[in-house]
Amino acid sequence: MRVYWEITRACGLACRHCRAEAATHRAPEELSTAEGFKLLEELATGTPKPHVVLTGGDPLERPDLFDLIAKGRSLGLGISVSPSATPRLTREAIRAFKEAGVEAISLSLDGATQTVHDGIRGVTGTFERTLIAGEQARELGLPFQVNTLVAEETLAEIPGIETLARQIGAARWSLFFLVTVGRGVVLQPISADACTKLLGWLAERATLPGMIVTTTEAPHFRRIVAESRLSAPGRGHAAGIRDGNGIMFVSHDGEVFPSGFLPVAAGNVRSGDALQIYREAPLFLSLRDVDSFHGRCGACEVRTACGGSRARAYLASGDLLGEDPLCQHQPAGHVDQTTPA
Ligand code: SF4
Repeated sequence: MRVYWEITRACGLACRHCRAEAATHRAPEELSTAEGFKLLEELATGTPKPHVVLTGGDPLERPDLFDLIAKGRSLGLGISVSPSATPRLTREAIRAFKEAGVEAISLSLDGATQTVHDGIRGVTGTFERTLIAGEQARELGLPFQVNTLVAEETLAEIPGIETLARQIGAARWSLFFLVTVGRGVVLQPISADACTKLLGWLAERATLPGMIVTTTEAPHFRRIVAESRLSAPGRGHAAGIRDGNGIMFVSHDGEVFPSGFLPVAAGNVRSGDALQIYREAPLFLSLRDVDSFHGRCGACEVRTACGGSRARAYLASGDLLGEDPLCQHQPAGHVDQTTPA
């Protein structure tokens, strides 16, 4: 369904939670233009064709970005881009995205104020640049998504960010629930209790017209939405989409991961076919077998639609198939093996 390709790790920002541990210069081991074309050709053989998100780092750091977009579009792939809010993200760049057939861009907003957002992003001025980029995208008719980090440091900002995202006309708001990987270790994840409260609030906000509200690395939002019976069905991610199931991530050097937050590789597109790795690698197959999951996720009645964050389960316990500690659901009949009798 969705392929996230980290086309470079180079970026002018130094965000505290950066998955890519972004660098100031492009790495020599980045996939070349020719290797990128081969990857896109392999992805385009899928039925249906996946949507490709060109991410980074900052995709605008690659001089061949628009060649990659053109190649993807010529193959019939839907393309989105996740640029960083740097001086490269000009009105001309946004117009070029629109003219190249990019379906949407995503912009990060981690604070409702300049102080909080710029503090997290590590560069003064990114808050203002993000708001301007959103306004320009709207004027040019290019849909944009707002991405927001959910961590202890941003939790109090969430309502203000929602207001701001609606004001600037975001088509979609995606909240990423921190998984401690990369620079993320310097920020703190929220508690399971705070997560349950936040998801309940989000389920209500998701009923409002306009902006679609989705989560990343918190698939149990679907359970909470279903229990609340509030949100219009069919909005946001389809049920069951999670790390390794409907999602794959290709790193700058071609390694294939179930997501950008689960640091276990299943192969490399330099030596194998991207879709074949997705379809046949034992790692991906195990992540799609919800009946082999452990703990509460294994016993859960909604494990097919949810399945928990595999990245968080892995980083919390070392068990890829373990339970997601951010979810408080107690499936009927589940006996907690960790509690002494
Ligand atoms: S127990 Fe696991 S599968 Fe069930 S809702 Fe929670 S995270 Fe999802």
